[in-house]
Amino acid sequence: MSNAKIVATIGPSSFQREPLLSMYESGLSVIRINTAHITPGYIAKVADFVNKLNAETGRHVGIMVDLKGPELRTGQFSGGELKVEIGEKFKLNSRNDGVISFSHPEIYDILSLKDLVLLSDGKIRMRVAGKDSGGIVLESMDDGVLRDRSRVNIPGKFLPLGNLTERDIAYLKEGIVAKVDMFALSFVQRKEDVEELQEIIMKEGGDQFIVSKIETKNGFQNIRDIAKVSDFIMVARGDLGVELPLKEVAIAQKKIIEESHMQGVPTIVATQMLESMVKSSSPTRAEVSDVTNAIMDNADALMLSEESSIGDYPDMAVKYLKDIAEYVESRNFQLKEPEEFLGNQVAYSIARAAKMISVEINADAILAFTKTGNTAKMLSAVRPKVPIIATVTSERLARKLNLYRGVEPLVIDGGDEEIDPVEALSYVEKKTFLKRGDRVIITSGAPYFLFGGTNEVRVATVGNFVGRGYPAGKSLTGKAFINKSGKGDILVLDTQEIPEGIKIEKLKAVIFIPNISTKLKESIREKGVTVLSNTRFSIIIKPGDTLHIDGCTGVITQ
Ligand code: PGA
Ligand code: MN
Repeated sequence: MSNAKIVATIGPSSFQREPLLSMYESGLSVIRINTAHITPGYIAKVADFVNKLNAETGRHVGIMVDLKGPELRTGQFSGGELKVEIGEKFKLNSRNDGVISFSHPEIYDILSLKDLVLLSDGKIRMRVAGKDSGGIVLESMDDGVLRDRSRVNIPGKFLPLGNLTERDIAYLKEGIVAKVDMFALSFVQRKEDVEELQEIIMKEGGDQFIVSKIETKNGFQNIRDIAKVSDFIMVARGDLGVELPLKEVAIAQKKIIEESHMQGVPTIVATQMLESMVKSSSPTRAEVSDVTNAIMDNADALMLSEESSIGDYPDMAVKYLKDIAEYVESRNFQLKEPEEFLGNQVAYSIARAAKMISVEINADAILAFTKTGNTAKMLSAVRPKVPIIATVTSERLARKLNLYRGVEPLVIDGGDEEIDPVEALSYVEKKTFLKRGDRVIITSGAPYFLFGGTNEVRVATVGNFVGRGYPAGKSLTGKAFINKSGKGDILVLDTQEIPEGIKIEKLKAVIFIPNISTKLKESIREKGVTVLSNTRFSIIIKPGDTLHIDGCTGVITQ
């Protein structure tokens, strides 16, 4: 599985058992509900379905409800459309009874002479050519046709339209009751927009994450401040590509990811990632290249829109994203760490240390025992190569953490009791890809994981500890035989030399109970055979026992 995560918008194509289960299997992390296309009751239906599939599969797929905010649109035209020509002028007045009218006439006041007004996703550009107390005059710069309720963008102007419509509030309440995991906020212009939504969520009794969609020029300009107060940032390239000249969008994406990541805030890249897969069973070369670049730009997650909501191949689209991500991540390139991290500085230092140790000792995973999820967030932000298993005591938290790059949540039933991380390892082994003998790095808070902040990092081997010696050589698993008795590939000796008739090079390891000479140790190691000396066992080893030897630490487990 790749470290990069996948968000897929749900719709008629994917709101069914078969495609959704196969999307789960391919590694889907979060489902987005686009409230532009739903009716009341839909959120609860999706939530029920997802809860059932999660229980069935043991996965922690989360739900994001995307709130649309107040959109500025034109009114209707007689006949449903309006043909406009270059140089044609239109008067807009506060009575809103001109040929062209806007859904929010109050914005006429904030327009100034020469301002650019984009209609119908930027296809028809107009300029403010006149303004007086009666209203404004727009002059078209393009020939074209406007349809009823065309989208209007005014790049770079702060639009005082408020944050949420009544419809948004209704879906927000529905989402809180259905216990969804995050709300996405469209057209975020400044940090106050995010703060306001957070207040409403708290007032309504919710605890959802906020994903701020950067899709206006203002949002892009204020990205630094917006990231500070957001849980996630979305590069919403659809609308951003209208507000900014198209050629600027790819560079803007890099900037948005960088500015967010520098503060430890994760990002989602959205829109047209695999657009051709709405109709085709494979993506274009350019789309694969775009996905590759988003991962190399350091995004946490990639999002599908129409590909998964109304497309013909929703499951294939998820699989393509995962496959591409896995390949790209397997190539060796370094991703930046954040420069500053808001929060517990000790935990952040522990996260960086854990990453460093994971490289030096070639660990198989980092295990984070985390109460609030913050340590998992920090670990994710420093971008270790190995998976981060976030061990939490709440399913709700697991679903939120599921969207951080590289984080695999694991719910452990700890109640409010103290959990000993090393004792918990056997549970972790049962529930994850980890096997006996694997080396893990554990971050936790001592003395009490549930309430102590993260303050320690240690190395452990998966399995039951049965002994330890002074090691030379590599890690391995084999069967023990003792002083020549029995058959196996790990020879356990209580003498200081090799008995006659033993062919060392046929063995995987020799474990000496006593200390041995450096010369003997070296001669065995040179043959590619691991050697432990001065070994203490905590149990009695019998011939035929399977042993895992950690070549780094000398720890023997069963
Ligand atoms: P939307 O947001 O799909 O809700 O418009 C994404 C975008 O604009 O890219
Ligand atoms: Mn949008």
